[in-house]
Amino acid sequence: MEWPRARASIGVKLLLGYTAVLSISVSIIAAFVYTQVAHRINRDARLLLEVQAQDLAEAYRGRLEDGEPAQVLPWLQEHVQRLLRNADPSLRLGIAFASESGEMLLRAGSLRDVEVPLSTSLLEGERDSALRAVNLGDEFAYLSQALRVPGGFIQVVIHTERYAENIAHIRDVFLLSLPLLLLLTASGGWLLVRGSLRPIARITQTARRISGSNLEESVPVTGSGDELDQLATTLNEMLARIHDSVERMRRFNANAAHELRTPLTAISSQIEVTLAKQRSAEEYPEVMRGVLETVRALADSVDAMLRLARSEAGLDPDHRVAVALAPVVGTVCEFFEPLADESELRLEVGPLPRAVVLGDAEWLHQLFSNLVANAIKYTPAGGVVSVGGEAEGGWARLWVRDSGAGIPPEALDRIFERYSRVGSTHAGFGLGLPIALEIAKAHGGQIEAASGPDSGTTFTVWLPLAAPEVRP
Ligand code: ADP
Repeated sequence: MEWPRARASIGVKLLLGYTAVLSISVSIIAAFVYTQVAHRINRDARLLLEVQAQDLAEAYRGRLEDGEPAQVLPWLQEHVQRLLRNADPSLRLGIAFASESGEMLLRAGSLRDVEVPLSTSLLEGERDSALRAVNLGDEFAYLSQALRVPGGFIQVVIHTERYAENIAHIRDVFLLSLPLLLLLTASGGWLLVRGSLRPIARITQTARRISGSNLEESVPVTGSGDELDQLATTLNEMLARIHDSVERMRRFNANAAHELRTPLTAISSQIEVTLAKQRSAEEYPEVMRGVLETVRALADSVDAMLRLARSEAGLDPDHRVAVALAPVVGTVCEFFEPLADESELRLEVGPLPRAVVLGDAEWLHQLFSNLVANAIKYTPAGGVVSVGGEAEGGWARLWVRDSGAGIPPEALDRIFERYSRVGSTHAGFGLGLPIALEIAKAHGGQIEAASGPDSGTTFTVWLPLAAPEVRP
């Protein structure tokens, strides 16, 4: 069984992840700082104790130069009292002096009422000094430092409460500030995450509103240039493309309906007129021929529409094959040769490039047929239609040139639009050039038209060459 996945928003996931990483890293840093500081504080306490003990031992030794240990004892007592008076009371300094056998001869300060026995290693002479923690029945431990001196031992103790308090204080600061810091960063993070995800919410809202009928809407762009802004721009570009193609489709549908309507109306009125009165048997074949002609034109028009729809859908990349252009263009010219003769035109062919493109031979045949058919159609008798090409810089460039009346400059932009018959008096569907252009585009190419008054028209087809290793 599959468990339902929790549906947390990106914002919540980001925030949880970010807070978890932050808490772990801050806790590690806090623990490290805490142990370091605690170590330093303990070391400071030991140093202070050592200094106290050494100073006292130094003073004792200096005094001893003048007499016996027993004689120095009264002086020591006085000196210790002075030290205790001047010492910081929070240290709870305790000082003791023991004989060489370990018997306590003097005890003052916090050692007055308790005796801290000297360690055996010190008494047995294994060591000259001993530092250890001792418990004098208090909540906090004392640190004791004992030193061997001539004629006995000096022992100094200090209370560790002050140090322990410092360490506890630092721990409390960390324990208190850590949740506070996490709370602050989590709320700051939440604001940041929400702010940066707001564009996504706006994109989602707009996308929900957009449908086939309001494709003009666009996703708001902030102009910040960040990733979300780039996404919004890309979506807008995509919407614009979809809008364009939907518009083109709408126009095409309307035009196609109109185009089909005209011959259909012609057929129905031909039949109506025929049926309006009694006809002789000879009249019917005449009428039927007229109807057949219109039906054929209708079928041609539907064929052209289907071809356009297919070429618009693009070439299936898996079914592209290497096609040599020269044989395709050569066959087209051979096919149109009789028509050119009939129209009293000269059809010149060549030179043709030894170029190979990746695509569909039948489609390319259609492309050049449409261009050559137009050139013959729009060139008056006595004119010349020439077809040629060359390969250059990874491209095949082929031209179909005629010496016809040309296309007016203001109409040149519209000739590739569907059903645009620019002042043409010839029969046609206005789909020949759009089909040719779609085929060129499906092959990654383009078609350009150039025309001047009385200088004829040249259509140039650009097609990308197949890689050199692809040969038919
Ligand atoms: P049509 O079926 O009308 O020929 P096309 O799409 O093939 O439709 O061409 C669109 C229009 O472009 C034509 O109606 C014509 O006005 C113009 N045109 C196309 N080819 C030529 C040409 N070689 N010389 C002059 N005009 C042309």
